[in-house]
Amino acid sequence: MKRDGAAALLRKELEHREDVRFGRLVGKRRPVRAATVSLVLLAGIMAAAVLAWSLVHARALELARARIAATNTVLTLANQANSSFNVADTVLVSLVDKIEVEGWSELNVDRLRTLMAKQMEHLPALQGLFVYDETGRWIATSAGRSYEGRNNADRTYFQYHKHARDRGVHIGSPIVGRTSGVWVVPVSRRIEHPDGRFAGVALATIKIDFYRSIYSSLELGPGGQVMMTLNDGSLLLRSPFDARELGSNIASTPSFFLQAKHDFATRTVEAVIDGKTHILSHARIGAYPVGITLLQDQKAVLAGWRHSAMFACLALLLLIAGLLLLGRRVVRQLDVREQLEGELLSTKAHLETANTALSTMAYIDGLTDLFNRRYYELALQREVGRASRNGTPFAVLMLDIDYFKHYNDRYGHQAGDAALVAVAQAIQRGLRRSGDLAARYGGEEFVVILPDTDLAGAREVAETIRVSVQARALPHADSPLGVVTVSIGMHATIPHDAEDGANVVGQADAALYRAKTAGRNCAAT
Ligand code: GH3
Ligand code: MG
Ligand code: MG
Repeated sequence: MKRDGAAALLRKELEHREDVRFGRLVGKRRPVRAATVSLVLLAGIMAAAVLAWSLVHARALELARARIAATNTVLTLANQANSSFNVADTVLVSLVDKIEVEGWSELNVDRLRTLMAKQMEHLPALQGLFVYDETGRWIATSAGRSYEGRNNADRTYFQYHKHARDRGVHIGSPIVGRTSGVWVVPVSRRIEHPDGRFAGVALATIKIDFYRSIYSSLELGPGGQVMMTLNDGSLLLRSPFDARELGSNIASTPSFFLQAKHDFATRTVEAVIDGKTHILSHARIGAYPVGITLLQDQKAVLAGWRHSAMFACLALLLLIAGLLLLGRRVVRQLDVREQLEGELLSTKAHLETANTALSTMAYIDGLTDLFNRRYYELALQREVGRASRNGTPFAVLMLDIDYFKHYNDRYGHQAGDAALVAVAQAIQRGLRRSGDLAARYGGEEFVVILPDTDLAGAREVAETIRVSVQARALPHADSPLGVVTVSIGMHATIPHDAEDGANVVGQADAALYRAKTAGRNCAAT
């Protein structure tokens, strides 16, 4: 059976104990670095996600708020325009009715004129009231009598009523009033003879300025505009105001196209006009072919939101930068810690190696690698105790190299040491059980402890060793035996106490003396 040397066994045992302790510690280490990096990344991503969500939410709220405000504005403007057209039309209906019942007599015309002037006093939106006969001649106006010889047959509304048998109200494109010289919206109705033939036109003009003053007071923001249009695309008014475009037709422009396309009463849509996204709100006016449209540049509407979004993004960037710096610092600290840990571990390993070496040195003989005398004393105590407890036999061999002084003298001390090592190897290999133990007793003397072994067993081991040493055939010219040999004294007993143990060694030593005197290279009891 192959057996490790005593030093190797001891070293293995010491290292194993350290490894177990280390293993436990290493097992407790957590991947803190990866956890830190993940935590920093997660925190950054979470913060960005929360901000993105709240910005999207805030944008939607801002747009919704702008849409509600726009809807309210167009509805208010539509109501206001509706009532102004209603007032004008109500007056026209009563005028037409009166004329158709009472005719054109001089008296009637006078009464008509007075009535018209009176009505004008209560209607601030109206510029004037007019009545023309079927040739376009001025019959009566609210503005007095100085219109002799005037004729309005050329006006569009006149031509319309002359040719269309439409008894409803007609609203025309803005025109410059011939008496006032100001921009007005003409609202007119056809007058008929009892047989249905065309008899003339009743006209009420609404001052453009009446609307303009209201529209210009609205807060529309940059790029924002509000307009009043006829269903055919004629522009009645646009704010910001530009007199040059009054009466022009915007039917072909995208904003009008959009409001005409979506037949809604009041609705807000997002539309791209002139490359920009707009919020378009539109309301039609009651019974009249007129619509109010509010157009706002979405970019301008969202200016406040964009400002806070930029601020929030900047704050987020700062936060992320802070997190990254903190993360980097923590990771660096971890690196330093790991480095320190590594250094500590290597120092520890060094110390442990040194410790192991020291422990080994304390119990192992440096030359032969057998246990030393100190260890032998401890082992003897232990084995004697065990044997006395168990009541088992216990044997000791004492070995001494024969004529070793001569060997040294002839071959030198170094060769002597080599012979000691060879003998030690032979002794170690002669042991069979794991409990058997060989030690260098001192000089060229060795001792073997054989637990649970009686004298017969001890003799077998002793013979094995003796033969094995001789078989090595280390030349020894100054020995009568010719090669290096050992003499062995042995003793076995069942010890009762420590004294019995010491006695066994004494007996073995005495047996050794007997082996020497018996001629050496033998085992004696
Ligand atoms: P004997 O057969 O009676 O034992 O004769 P011996 O010459 O061996 O006598 P003894 O046992 O008294 O001899 C001891 C000698 O062993 C003395 C010394 O020269 C040698 N010796 C002791 N320790 C060492 C050692 O560590 N190295 C070497 N090379 N020689 C040693
Ligand atoms: Mg000796
Ligand atoms: Mg000797």
